[in-house]
Amino acid sequence: MTTHADTANVTRGVCEAVPCPGSDIRMPKPPVTHSSQHRQLSPARELQTSRGTLPSPSENSFAPSGLDEARRLGLVEDLGETSATGRLPWVIAAGVAVILLPALLVLICPLRWFPGVGDCAVSVNDRAVELDTAEAETAASVAARSVRLKRRLPTVVTAIARAVDISETDARVVATALTGRASHAFTCVHGGGDDEMSEKLGPAGLTARADRARRDLERAFGPQKLGGFAPGGVTSGHMPGSAHYEGRAVDAFFRPVNERNRTKGWAVAQYLVAHADRLAVETVIYDGRIWTARRAGAGWRSYRPDTSRRSAEAAAILEHLDHVHVDVAD
Ligand SMILES: [Zn+2]
Repeated sequence: MTTHADTANVTRGVCEAVPCPGSDIRMPKPPVTHSSQHRQLSPARELQTSRGTLPSPSENSFAPSGLDEARRLGLVEDLGETSATGRLPWVIAAGVAVILLPALLVLICPLRWFPGVGDCAVSVNDRAVELDTAEAETAASVAARSVRLKRRLPTVVTAIARAVDISETDARVVATALTGRASHAFTCVHGGGDDEMSEKLGPAGLTARADRARRDLERAFGPQKLGGFAPGGVTSGHMPGSAHYEGRAVDAFFRPVNERNRTKGWAVAQYLVAHADRLAVETVIYDGRIWTARRAGAGWRSYRPDTSRRSAEAAAILEHLDHVHVDVAD
């Protein structure tokens, strides 16, 4: 596109080289500049730009052989290949930034910041369903109540389809995961809430957030076999630096380790992820898998602690095969 500035420059030069139609005014000669900000006009462009005011190509000074003359007259100003080359690193840097910025945001921010992307995702047998936080909480609560009341899967599917307003096909995927029939299939990119709550240990030896999670779990699933906390706090029995020592963690036991208990355990583990935002859950570990709010985008990662030289029972505990560990924000 020819800009007004281009036309002005060319016309000014033309008026100097040849008389302008209807004008005797001679413009002052512009200074010759090599600024990289100026563009070099191609011969064809010069001809088009000045059409009607210039002599024919055969006699004008814009033919390739007259380029030096045009430069001398200030009609042509160099953009120069050096300038384009000089800008290349900046163009590459901008391109890299455009590509990396969203990736960085995904790592450090919840995906909820991206419109149209659900907070939670369920994937069972190659069929995936996305839910927002409210839908995930509703579906998980319906599933928990169904587990508590020992409802059959078709009943749970219908209940979730109605409660969340999704198709029965999608509801089957969600129900399969949230009742524990599919392991590490339900994940969310939220959690670790930042609401202010007391960090002092309550009567049970838990912080206010941890005690809220404990009570919520039992309200949803009924009485559970819980451990990892005690009045006054615990000081042993866990790995160094464990959230249990701060009263921020609860263990829900599902013993003995078998398929039936494994299903129950996964129902609880995935319920906690669905409600991670509301309950400020930071970590859930179960059945050789770990979900953390900090790396929620990675879903349920493999969790393989060193169990060498440990008894089978000790190894099962370390790998969390027999209990769901949940800890909340401090
Ligand atoms: Zn634990």
